[in-house]
Amino acid sequence: MMLGYLLARAGVDVIVLEKHRDFLRDFRGDTIHPSTLEVMYELGLLDEFLKRPHSKVERVGGQIGDEFVTLGDFTHLPTHCKFLVFMPQWDFLDFLAEHGRRYKTFDLRTDTEVVGLTTSGARITGVQARTPDGPIDIRSRVVIGADGRHSIVREKAGLEIEDLGAPMDVLWFRLSKHSDDQGQVLGRIAGGRIMVMLDRGDYWQCGFVIHKGGIDEVKRAGLDAFRRDVATLAPFAADRVHEITEWDQIKLLTVAVDRLRRWYRDGLLCIGDAAHAMSPVGGVGINLAIQDAVAAANILTAPLLEDRLTTHDLERVQRRRMFPTRATQAMQVFVQEQVLGRALGNPRVSLPWPLRLFNRWPILRRLPARAIGLGFRPEHVRTMEVP
Ligand SMILES: Cc1cc2nc3c(=O)[nH]c(=O)nc-3n(C[C@H](O)[C@H](O)[C@H](O)COP(=O)(O)OP(=O)(O)OC[C@H]3O[C@@H](n4cnc5c(N)ncnc54)[C@H](O)[C@@H]3O)c2cc1C
Repeated sequence: MMLGYLLARAGVDVIVLEKHRDFLRDFRGDTIHPSTLEVMYELGLLDEFLKRPHSKVERVGGQIGDEFVTLGDFTHLPTHCKFLVFMPQWDFLDFLAEHGRRYKTFDLRTDTEVVGLTTSGARITGVQARTPDGPIDIRSRVVIGADGRHSIVREKAGLEIEDLGAPMDVLWFRLSKHSDDQGQVLGRIAGGRIMVMLDRGDYWQCGFVIHKGGIDEVKRAGLDAFRRDVATLAPFAADRVHEITEWDQIKLLTVAVDRLRRWYRDGLLCIGDAAHAMSPVGGVGINLAIQDAVAAANILTAPLLEDRLTTHDLERVQRRRMFPTRATQAMQVFVQEQVLGRALGNPRVSLPWPLRLFNRWPILRRLPARAIGLGFRPEHVRTMEVP
C-alpha cells in the first residue's frame, strides 16, 4: 500500500491488489515507529495522521520476575516524533488508501486475490487474479510481491528462501482494560512463561508466547490452566481472565523468520515480509516493510516514469535493503534464542546482568530505541508529488 501510494503520488500508474474485502481483520501488529512517522512527516501527512485515534509510547520496558527494566527510551531520537504510535493496522492502511485515491494513477482493487504469474519466456509480465466476477489477468511492467509471510508471488516466482528458524509461536487474545490499570509494561516474563500486553485503548491485546508447535500441549492442559498462567503473568488482570471462555477467542500466530536469497526476477520484486518474514520481536516488521517501500519508490520511480526499468534497478532495491534486513533479523534471532527461548519453561529466570545496567545508566536505553525506533539505514522520501 505504501509503495502503491508513493508511486502513484509520483505519477506512476499503479494497481494495488488486496485479496480481502477490507483491512479490518484480526491482530496483525500495531506499532508505527518514529522512522515511519518521519516518512509521514516528509509526505506532509503527519498532522492528519495523528488525528486518528492512537496511543503514544515514549519508553518501552519489561518485567522479569519482580524486576522492571526500561529497555528503550525514544525521547532522544533525532526525529519529529520521539515516540511510538500504537494504531490498529487497518486504520493505518485505510489512511494510506484514502490518500492514495486522491491520485488518478492509484487503483486499489480489494477482493482480488493473486493466484499466479504470467510470463513471457523468463520474464514476469503480470499476475493472474481471482475476483468475485471471475478470473482476470493484469499485465504490468513490474509486479511487486508485497503479500506477506505466505507470499504466493514469491512461491510462484520460485525464489529461494533461507529459513532462520524461530523457537516460538504466539497466542493472541484480548482482555478488557480498566481505567486504573497500571502503566505500559510491554513484556512480562515469570515462572517460565512470557506474555506481551499492548494497550489498545479499551482493551489489552495480549500475546502469550509458547514453544514452537506447542499449541496442542497448551490445549491439553485446558483453559483453566491457561487462565491461571495469564493471571500469574499479569496479576492486575487476574480479575478478568474469566473473559477467556473458549479456544476460539485465542488465535495462534506461527512465528517465522526467513529471507529470500534473491528478491527479484526479470519483471518482479518482493519487498516486506514477502522478501523477509519478520519475527514479532521488537515489533519492527511493519516499519521494515515501509522502509523497503520508500527505498523501492526512490529507486524505481524514475526508471518507471521514463520507461527504462531493468532488472538491475530491482537488484539495487535488494542491495539497499539487505543490510537492514540482515541486521534486524540477527537482533531478533538473538533475542528469540538467548532471552525468550531460555526463559520459556525456566521458572528461575531472573533479570540478566546486562539488562540491569539499563536501570543503572539510563543513557543505555537510547541504543535499543535507535535500533527499534529508527532501524538500520533509515530511508527518506526522495520522490516528488506530481500535482
Ligand atoms: C504474531 C505477530 C505479531 C506481530 N506484531 C508486530 C507489531 O506489533 N509491529 C510490527 O511492526 N510488526 C509486527 N509483526 C510483523 C508484521 O506483521 C509484518 O512484518 C508486517 O505486517 C509485514 O508487512 P507486509 O506489508 O510485508 O505484509 P502483510 O502485512 O502481511 O500484508 C500482506 C497483504 O497482502 C495481502 N495478500 C496476501 N496474499 C495475497 C494474494 N494472494 N493476493 C492479494 N493480496 C494478498 C494480505 O491480505 C495483506 O493485506 C508481527 C508478526 C507476527 C507474526
